[in-house]
Amino acid sequence: MNIRRHFGAQVSKFFQRLVYATSQARYEEALGILEKDYPNGKEAVAYIKAIDSRKFSRYALVLPRYGRMTSNAVECMNAAFLKLREYAARRLLFEVWIYVMRSFYERQTIAEGSIDLLTEYAKGRFSEFECEYGRYVMYNADDDNALVQTNGGVDQWIVRRHPRLSCSCYEPQEMQWPCIHVMSWCKGKGEDYLPYVDRIYFQKSLLACYSQAIPPVTE
Ligand SMILES: [Zn+2]
Repeated sequence: MNIRRHFGAQVSKFFQRLVYATSQARYEEALGILEKDYPNGKEAVAYIKAIDSRKFSRYALVLPRYGRMTSNAVECMNAAFLKLREYAARRLLFEVWIYVMRSFYERQTIAEGSIDLLTEYAKGRFSEFECEYGRYVMYNADDDNALVQTNGGVDQWIVRRHPRLSCSCYEPQEMQWPCIHVMSWCKGKGEDYLPYVDRIYFQKSLLACYSQAIPPVTE
């Protein structure tokens, strides 16, 4: 699947709407816009419809992807090793080993030196939330459900706590952390939102990832 190659770079912004659609209705709406507003939109829509949306659209993802909409991990690895590609096979293995060992050493030192509970990544995201949540108002909130609104009710989201935490913005399901709507709800109830943050966003998990040394590759 390479929609840019088939239909040109300009198609990307239309395709992004499909990737980040949080409901089937928004996905269908984005397909309609692509068909109507893009020069060869009809063919692009037919091409996309032949692909299973569970592979790329946020609303249809089967399992949480922690914000990764494509195989970003593989792309990152390719980018990290880009400079090493010119080496011959044996030297390449050695350089990859050096690279990985250096990364582990550096990250282990960061994790050990930190006394913070959450990773820098999670802290950054939550401090953005902290600045925004005042804009959101809750209605019909009880122990398990809440309706969260902003812009005088123009935008609204449904938050549920059971059987597991979810929001109609889809962020808690995908990221396994509280979205701004869940945070507003917690704030309104006087509860801490940290219990809703998955353990992967805690320093302890980061440290565990880098706690083991990798044995050298022998001949
Ligand atoms: Zn939400």
